[in-house]
Amino acid sequence: MLRVGMIGWRGMVGSVLMQRMREEDAFSGIEAIFFSTSNAGGPAPAESADGAVLRDASDLKKLAACDVLMSCQGGDYTSQVFGPLRTSGWKGYWIDAASTLRMEPDAVIVLDPVNGALIREALAQGTRTFVGGNCTVSLMVMAVGALFQAGLVEWMTTMTYQAASGAGAAHMQELVRQMECLVEPTRASPSETALELDRMMIEAQRTDSIPTREFGVPLAGSLLPWVDRDMPDGQTREEWKGMAETNKILGLYPQVPVDGICVRVGTMRCHSQGLCIKLTKDVPLKDIEQILAGAHAWARVIPNDKESTLRCLTPTAVSGTLMVPVGRLHKLKLGPKYLGAFTVGDQLLWGAAEPLLRMLSILRSHIGS
Ligand code: NAP
Repeated sequence: MLRVGMIGWRGMVGSVLMQRMREEDAFSGIEAIFFSTSNAGGPAPAESADGAVLRDASDLKKLAACDVLMSCQGGDYTSQVFGPLRTSGWKGYWIDAASTLRMEPDAVIVLDPVNGALIREALAQGTRTFVGGNCTVSLMVMAVGALFQAGLVEWMTTMTYQAASGAGAAHMQELVRQMECLVEPTRASPSETALELDRMMIEAQRTDSIPTREFGVPLAGSLLPWVDRDMPDGQTREEWKGMAETNKILGLYPQVPVDGICVRVGTMRCHSQGLCIKLTKDVPLKDIEQILAGAHAWARVIPNDKESTLRCLTPTAVSGTLMVPVGRLHKLKLGPKYLGAFTVGDQLLWGAAEPLLRMLSILRSHIGS
């Protein structure tokens, strides 16, 4: 039976992966071994096939006894164990949510509704490292990747609105605590005017008592136009990933320019993006809608009207679902080759856990397990 080591299963991505594996009955037919970086010896989930306790995630011998390692632990962990494991001669399959290995030449970024053929080809050629894409990039590619594949994109800008949970469990918890701090003073004096409410909110945001350990500043009632670390030329790393990963996932050559500004907003879950696409030619809107709607089973084109947009194209509507709606589709006043679009997707599903879950399933079919 295939021995699958699970690392990082209690984090934000890991817990959604666990939930999806349970829903899809993905634990049956495998021997799951659960690791921890912080609680080795603690209680393991019921699916553990290796006793009731968690194993030490830095124990290379124990890790190397697995045929597959699925890590949702983060980049530092990948940097710490992946190299030594491979150097020790481990030839197993590494399936990861972190960005560390994504751009390595022998790693494939997995998003099988879009690049399933590339994944299967890589498996056949002996590739053993498979990495989920950046959440914002994967969702954008799920939404409009078909236009790239049809050769219709000259360049694209993405303006993102990224949820707190994209930064991990502790960040999401901090956002809720920040919200409590904002609401608290209004509970004490409920009948204030709008101007008075505004004053109380700003005051609460600017006090030292609002928790900011994770984000560094208040996100509740605000937004943060900086995601991840800085890069040369004024980009953030999150923005850099837009072009690098889109082109790698889609196997585009020559590369199509993709750039924009990535912004953290106070939503709990789901990343949204406003897109400006410069088309290679003036394609009628109806044809564009048809290409997008037919891309894969989870694509949804939302009519560009107020009622449909507010009902279907918000984090509240999309959170917890696998649908990737794209709407607000219209030609911009910049000219007939300029397409405006807005898309929302659950970054913990298609942006993180789902491609990993599906990679495990593709791998099992490949090796006949
Ligand atoms: P996370 O929630 O911070 O979890 C990572 C690890 O942090 C957990 O496995 C856990 O390790 C530890 N941890 C510390 N405090 C925790 C808490 N309060 N609750 C739960 N776990 C806590 O990170 P993540 O968002 O899942 O991200 C994991 C990796 O996936 C990162 O490389 C990230 O860049 C990538 N990714 C994330 C998203 C997303 O939307 N969040 C999307 C795509 C890719 P121990 O149990 O060993 O202590």
